[in-house]
Amino acid sequence: MKEHWENLNALTAPLLAWYDANRRILPWREEVTPYRTWVSEIMLQQTRVSAAIPYFERFMAELPDVGALASVREERLFKLWEGLGYYSRARNLHRAAQRIVSDHGGELPQTVEALKKLPGIGDYTASAIASINFGAPEPAVDGNLLRVAARVCGCGGDITDAKVKKEFRARLADAIDRDRPGAYNQAMMDLGATVCLPNGAPLCARCPARGFCAAYREGLTEILPVRGAKKPRRAEERTVFLLLRGGRLAVRRRPDTGLLAKMTEFPNVAGSLDEAGALIVLAQWGLAAKALVPCGTAKHIFTHIEWQMKGYLAEVDGEGAEDFRWVDAAGFDELAIPTAFKKFTALARERL
Ligand code: SF4
Repeated sequence: MKEHWENLNALTAPLLAWYDANRRILPWREEVTPYRTWVSEIMLQQTRVSAAIPYFERFMAELPDVGALASVREERLFKLWEGLGYYSRARNLHRAAQRIVSDHGGELPQTVEALKKLPGIGDYTASAIASINFGAPEPAVDGNLLRVAARVCGCGGDITDAKVKKEFRARLADAIDRDRPGAYNQAMMDLGATVCLPNGAPLCARCPARGFCAAYREGLTEILPVRGAKKPRRAEERTVFLLLRGGRLAVRRRPDTGLLAKMTEFPNVAGSLDEAGALIVLAQWGLAAKALVPCGTAKHIFTHIEWQMKGYLAEVDGEGAEDFRWVDAAGFDELAIPTAFKKFTALARERL
């Protein structure tokens, strides 16, 4: 498959004209500030645009600037993030905001290099912020840009391969509009999201590239882009406990690092325990069960791990482990329990 890199340069002008007529109206585009671009891009990393919009608006209403984000309590930040998942994004936003206040006078730095030194900001986000807010001619290379570019140029390289990605980045940096780099990146994002679709057939009839797009011309839209095989997810069994004592429920904080770091969770252990095993765990926590009943199963998929959970609901007596907190209904409502436990959170709410 011979690449037609020149097609990327041919796309720039019609792409911007298409964008001016068809761009999506989004809250972070109506009032553009580095802070709003940053928060929106972080939210959009793992969340669809339509799902992110209400979260973004709620977030901005409560935390309108870097200073407010830097000083918010972590538990409150998690509550604002509740339902978006991938909480490391919220933790990194928090740490980065504190760094921006302490090291940059409360203003986001303007270059890709300086932005990338902040927690949670990689090549893509740094380029998006720098191009949209500071006019830097940096392509924000994400799945959308890679897909559009691979199809327009007829490139059969594996877009998950670092070398191939680097080549795309260089070609996109050459094609980007020097006067409107932010509009160029957003136009490519919009084209990828609304016309050159990832799943199903792309809507080529509406595309500003159809006159010269290699994939369209050669009937390769089903094949391109090429993606290497994903690593299979690791399955992990866990037993989750809803422990009730005198109208209060046990929760605890996860470790400071790793999966769902610092989040509040229901006590849980590795493995799929039968009732005898569950009673042993309770005893190890210093608890005696007055009643113990299974309360269903649930599955949650993280990027690299899949949790297969089994739950027990228990009325207990005793102290409980040192790191347990016993919360009443009002206290429970203040907490942001990760979406992974959604099923058990609903059950706990019913029981409190
Ligand atoms: Fe994608 Fe079709 Fe446009 Fe080519 S013509 S960029 S395949 S939508």
